Amino acid sequence: MPDSPSLAEFESEVTAFFDANAERKDEEHDGPFKWGQGKDDLSLFEEVDRDVEREAIVAAQGWRAKRYDAGLGWITGPAQYGGRELSQAHERVYNSVEGRYRVPPTSYFGIGLGMVAPTILAHAQDHVKARYLPKMYRGDVIGAQLFSEPGAGSDLAGLQTRAERDGDEWVINGQKVWTSGAQYADIGEIICRTDPDQPKHKGLTGFVIDMKAPGVEVRPLRQMTGGASFNEVFFTDLRVPDDHRLGDVNAGWSVALTTLLNERASIGAGSGGGMGGIGNAARLIEMLRHFGLDRDPVFRQELAKVYAGFQVAKWNNQRAMDKIKSGQAPGPELSGAKLSLTKNMQAVSAFAAKVLGPRLMADTGEWGTFSWAQFICGVPGMRVAGGTDEVLRKIIGEQVLGLPKEPGIDTTSPFKDLLKN
Ligand SMILES: Cc1cc2nc3c(=O)[nH]c(=O)nc-3n(C[C@H](O)[C@H](O)[C@H](O)COP(=O)(O)OP(=O)(O)OC[C@H]3O[C@@H](n4cnc5c(N)ncnc54)[C@H](O)[C@@H]3O)c2cc1C
Repeated sequence: MPDSPSLAEFESEVTAFFDANAERKDEEHDGPFKWGQGKDDLSLFEEVDRDVEREAIVAAQGWRAKRYDAGLGWITGPAQYGGRELSQAHERVYNSVEGRYRVPPTSYFGIGLGMVAPTILAHAQDHVKARYLPKMYRGDVIGAQLFSEPGAGSDLAGLQTRAERDGDEWVINGQKVWTSGAQYADIGEIICRTDPDQPKHKGLTGFVIDMKAPGVEVRPLRQMTGGASFNEVFFTDLRVPDDHRLGDVNAGWSVALTTLLNERASIGAGSGGGMGGIGNAARLIEMLRHFGLDRDPVFRQELAKVYAGFQVAKWNNQRAMDKIKSGQAPGPELSGAKLSLTKNMQAVSAFAAKVLGPRLMADTGEWGTFSWAQFICGVPGMRVAGGTDEVLRKIIGEQVLGLPKEPGIDTTSPFKDLLKN
């Protein structure tokens, strides 16, 4: 059992690590928001070219390696996989110290550490956990989620990518779509159909695959904001060893649910770095001031409404996250966290559009105006990623509020028999 330092001892250890490895934030560069100063970038998705992206990944990996090598890579994780086995309170201490320093952006690890790693921990064989988890937390291995297909998004269990057994291996053929970060991922968590004769939720199996293996082809998809953060991924006779299976054969639905619940937790609770990605309310207050609207009672009221929405979501998320952090699995209520995030992002988009008017539509070079277009064009993607708003409302209705189940083609639809004929 590793040592368990007190919170004060741990804070000293973390502070010493940051002092030795990172620059402290300062008033000039990182002080309170000032209109017209600093980076004018509100994009929600990566808009950089591949060379810039590669450099940023190298910097992010270097940072994670330093953290890991200092014993701070996985604060709450099991020691046998490189974790420190400390409490959530220790993790909060780490995060609060980190907030005082400048570190490279590490969003490249979000899917791997937020969704794939918890699924590997829950469902993989021990030697597969030992092979990947330490490297994932050290930043050496980046993970991707290979779930959605052209004909299977909300209805994920309808997926068609096939995995067929061949001795000690499986052979995968098919196509996935919208795979975030597939262009730089080293491994992927994939759900495949292994028995087409079983009811659709029952014939699925999960695997960990090598994204660089022969038989994997990644093609970028360009989004309306200009970048290409997502991809189509094609599989042609990709061979995967059976020991890389996640859970039992044909038990892939529960593997997928582990990932999806962690996905909603990480999207909802992460909220893109404060107020859905805009930082804090100062940007909105200063925008009103800049355009002479800060005394206008209607704008003031709308700003207060937007701010209150994010605050309520923040406290609700904290309650849900505390439950997870005290050892309970993320539950359906986390759908609420993701739903309120996107609702608040829509509210802040509407507010900015009202303040900026035509400045939103043309890039005149004026600081703090056209950059909002990137944010506003990214919000619809946020409403779809990790479960659409409509699907999350259905989950909340049925699984949290206990409302009657909605009729569905493969559940209790009164039209079920009619549709079969
Ligand atoms: C930014 C982004 C990142 C993504 N990253 C990944 C990734 O890394 N890996 C991955 O596997 N996938 C990823 N996805 C895909 C995402 O999971 C799917 O887009 C999502 O599940 C919706 O599926 P779909 O696009 O097929 O839409 P559909 O499921 O076809 O939905 C179309 C419309 O029908 C509505 N609808 C569907 N079913 C119901 C219902 N039962 N009741 C009411 N309305 C319904 C939906 O709300 C939606 O408005 C990403 C998507 C986005 C936008």
